[in-house]
Amino acid sequence: MPVLVMKFGGTSVATLDRIARASKRVAREVANGYDVIVIVSAMSGKTNELVGWVEETSPLYDAREYDAVVSSGENVTAGLMALRLQEMDIPARSWQGWQVPVKTTAAHAAARIEEIPAANIVQKFAEGMKVAVVAGFQGVSPEGRITTLGRGGSDTTAVAFAAAFGAERCDIYTDVNGVYTTDPRIEDKARKLDKIAFEEMLELASLGAKVLQTRSVELAMRYKVKLRVLSSFEEYDPNAGTLVCDEEEIVESKAVSGVAYSRDEAKMTLISVADRPGIAAAVFTPLSEAGVNVDMIVQNISEEGRTDMTFSCPVGQVPRAEKAMQEARAKGEINYHDLVADTDVAKVSIVGIGMRSQAGIAAKMFHVLAREGINIKVITTSEIKLSVLIDRKYMELAVQALHDAFELEKAG
Ligand code: ADP
Ligand code: ASP
Ligand code: MG
Repeated sequence: MPVLVMKFGGTSVATLDRIARASKRVAREVANGYDVIVIVSAMSGKTNELVGWVEETSPLYDAREYDAVVSSGENVTAGLMALRLQEMDIPARSWQGWQVPVKTTAAHAAARIEEIPAANIVQKFAEGMKVAVVAGFQGVSPEGRITTLGRGGSDTTAVAFAAAFGAERCDIYTDVNGVYTTDPRIEDKARKLDKIAFEEMLELASLGAKVLQTRSVELAMRYKVKLRVLSSFEEYDPNAGTLVCDEEEIVESKAVSGVAYSRDEAKMTLISVADRPGIAAAVFTPLSEAGVNVDMIVQNISEEGRTDMTFSCPVGQVPRAEKAMQEARAKGEINYHDLVADTDVAKVSIVGIGMRSQAGIAAKMFHVLAREGINIKVITTSEIKLSVLIDRKYMELAVQALHDAFELEKAG
């Protein structure tokens, strides 16, 4: 039997009614002749609640216990979905990550899937089971402890199962009916894309578009998984949603295809560090050892052998970054006058494979932001993306102005 992977996100399993609705979709695919692997998220809001409990109990928590707690939301929805399907006379069974087992690295809270042995579930399919419901987001480390894959990780579970089982397709059911030119919650003129190239989706995801976890797109690209994003609320339509596919299959020829944002960023500046060989290593090694995800970096022109060094990181990591810098200074590894944190910034990015071949895109972006009176604090570019750090209060305005200026509401 061909295998289909269907992933249901938090809003799609938020209540018993929604689980029943999702189960009907699964039943339809069983009737279409598939053995189905369902990957479920926790009920929406549940993981945030669990994270809150952990942080309240232990602010500098042990990541192994964080994983033990926050993985639990998915256990509930997996069991409930299996029960619902059984009530519909569909042979179904649930699996937690460790039971499969979904083998991961030991990087707690940000583990990577290393292997998914298929034998156990394949055997059950051979015995007549029709649906395996697997708890997303979780796995087991080489030491035998429960791990989680980072926020949004159920997408990655889904794609990894699709690769491991050679699934015909991996359908990601969510609360929007596909991938849009930008977040439809911020820009109501956002347009749904029928197809998007892996490279573009990868950039959009890593620059903040929540709709797919970055790692899931990487895996789909590597293992050639046919990946589709669609709504669990709309009527069944075999051609619905957005297909994430190879660049060659895309007919649109726009330079820019999407706008992404990341709200909770911080900009940190080390004032007056000695400008000498090895200074960047001396600054960024302790940051990385402290688990700070540094994103943009700017080093100013030096004057009299001293320079300012600016970097951005998620706002929640500012205390850790400050501590790492203070410790490095105390040890004499670096020397600076002051460390200034700006915790009210956001990152806005434009993405498009067409940017490779069209000139003037950067100038146009800067012009649009200038016209809106938005000051740019830091800029980074790559072949197919351009990102700016700006004051958070202008984030929505910047997204909308760029979406307008690059005429993303129109196909082309
Ligand atoms: P799920 O719980 O199903 O995994 P998520 O909340 O993780 O859903 O992701 C879906 C959300 O992603 C949407 O509700 C939307 O607000 C947001 N989003 C951000 N950028 C985009 C985009 N370009 N296209 C579609 N959705 C986007
Ligand atoms: N429940 C997890 C989260 O909220 C994983 C997921 O939904 O993909 O991050
Ligand atoms: Mg998600």
